[in-house]
Amino acid sequence: MKALWLENHQLDLRSLPEPANPGEALIRIRKAGICSTDLELVKGYYPFTGIPGHEFVGEVVAADDESWVGQRVVGDINVTCGDCEQCLNGRSTHCENRTVLGITKRDGTFAEFTTLPIANLHRVPASVPDEMAVFTEPLAAALEIQQQVHVRPTDRVLVVGAGRLGQLIAQTLALTGSDLHVAARHAYQQKILIERGIRIIAEEDVQPWRWDIVVEATGSPGGFSLARQAIRPRGTLVMKSTYKGEMSVNFSSIVVDEVNIVGSRCGPFEPALRLMEKGEVDPSVLIAGEFKLGEALLAFERAAQAGVLKVLVTP
Ligand SMILES: [Zn+2]
Ligand SMILES: [Zn+2]
Repeated sequence: MKALWLENHQLDLRSLPEPANPGEALIRIRKAGICSTDLELVKGYYPFTGIPGHEFVGEVVAADDESWVGQRVVGDINVTCGDCEQCLNGRSTHCENRTVLGITKRDGTFAEFTTLPIANLHRVPASVPDEMAVFTEPLAAALEIQQQVHVRPTDRVLVVGAGRLGQLIAQTLALTGSDLHVAARHAYQQKILIERGIRIIAEEDVQPWRWDIVVEATGSPGGFSLARQAIRPRGTLVMKSTYKGEMSVNFSSIVVDEVNIVGSRCGPFEPALRLMEKGEVDPSVLIAGEFKLGEALLAFERAAQAGVLKVLVTP
């Protein structure tokens, strides 16, 4: 099969054997999305050799349980052991022996086919088109915030950053009825938010020590610093982005202000699919381009350009 291969910071197209993992479903990829993590893998922020890609919608072409064959699916990216301390205590996304689709020890989705255990699969409702379903994984990651933090309708909520993930976080937090503002730096980011009736705020207008919940979605020290200033004493700071290398933080002020810091990663797929089925969120407004798998190198170039949100790849 045709696939994109990453090795030593270098992407190239290869012809590889179809994946065969006993006990797992074989999935034909219909669409795959390029996420910031993929761009970071190419830069070498995390070690990975293999086929990248973890955001996808596909069709099951072979599975031990035949009822899945022909189903349009999305899939949880963490493949877990079910047997370790974390798995046995309901924290399976933190499985100590996990492999992660296209990120850790497992080939991903910029290919004609991939495999996943059936336990990881979720059927896509017929009314959700591929252009939306391909966003299930990042939308689920956005919803992890509501899994972890009680967002009250009376809360003042600030999202710092309106890139790929920040946009999805804003769309889901808009459903909570809270007083939501998004610090979006660029005009193209602001436009998408305004069109969905989400309020934006200029960075210089963010009042310090006034916000009950602040979500940091930039992954930059500047974004963290703005979020830190904005949070009120005993407020909750949700960390939704990873940072390159190490970051210097004044923890004394966090102790003095008794700030709750919540790290947040992968989230629940079924609610993400439900929100798209009901039309309560529309991630497809983020799509900035679509490329064939044969043009995947161009797709990565496009995704890395400033101002580009989501680029899709179709085998
Ligand atoms: Zn991702
Ligand atoms: Zn485990």
